[in-house]
Amino acid sequence: MSAPRLTVLAGPTAVGKGTVAAWIREHHPEVWLSVSATTRPPRPGEQDGVHYHFMSGEEFADKVSKGEMLEWAVVHGRASYGTPRGPVDEALAAGKLPLLEIDLQGARQVRASMPEACFVFLAPPSWDELVGRLEGRGTETAEERAVRLETAKVELAAQSEFDRVIVNDDIRRAAEELVSLMRSD
Ligand code: 5GP
Repeated sequence: MSAPRLTVLAGPTAVGKGTVAAWIREHHPEVWLSVSATTRPPRPGEQDGVHYHFMSGEEFADKVSKGEMLEWAVVHGRASYGTPRGPVDEALAAGKLPLLEIDLQGARQVRASMPEACFVFLAPPSWDELVGRLEGRGTETAEERAVRLETAKVELAAQSEFDRVIVNDDIRRAAEELVSLMRSD
């Protein structure tokens, strides 16, 4: 069997990437989930080192300048997010099944440096469903939602750049489809 390759999960805002990743974290310990760095403050219930590595803008910029980020991006014009490179390299070397849940800009950077990775796009069942989910989760102001929907339009148009598209019609089903795809490689 060939060594596991990196899988990158991207998709528009509010499609449920984080929820699919959380399902996998809970039910599939064999999958190694990258913990991103971010400059945004933690939301209630989020733990440093588990959901994100929360850090200041200075700390983040320092890691970028030292080449310690595999990819990074400013998401929704608000905060920086990035994938620490070292743990991904270690997971790959250890033969683990590594998964990155990142935005489209980050996925493109990974494609440039690791074209052999598997790129998966998580799509909403429909546009209306996506708008409904964004409004329903109530974590953004109306202004932030409008920005996110603009980003989502651009992101949806990028589906064809991906190796696979998984429709998030049901979190559990979508998560299981992703894990079996990772296992089959
Ligand atoms: P949130 O702030 O809601 O947790 O995440 C906002 C967005 O940041 C999501 O679209 C998520 O995929 C993206 N994101 C999370 N971690 C990373 C990362 O390490 N790199 C990039 N490029 N995007 C990320």
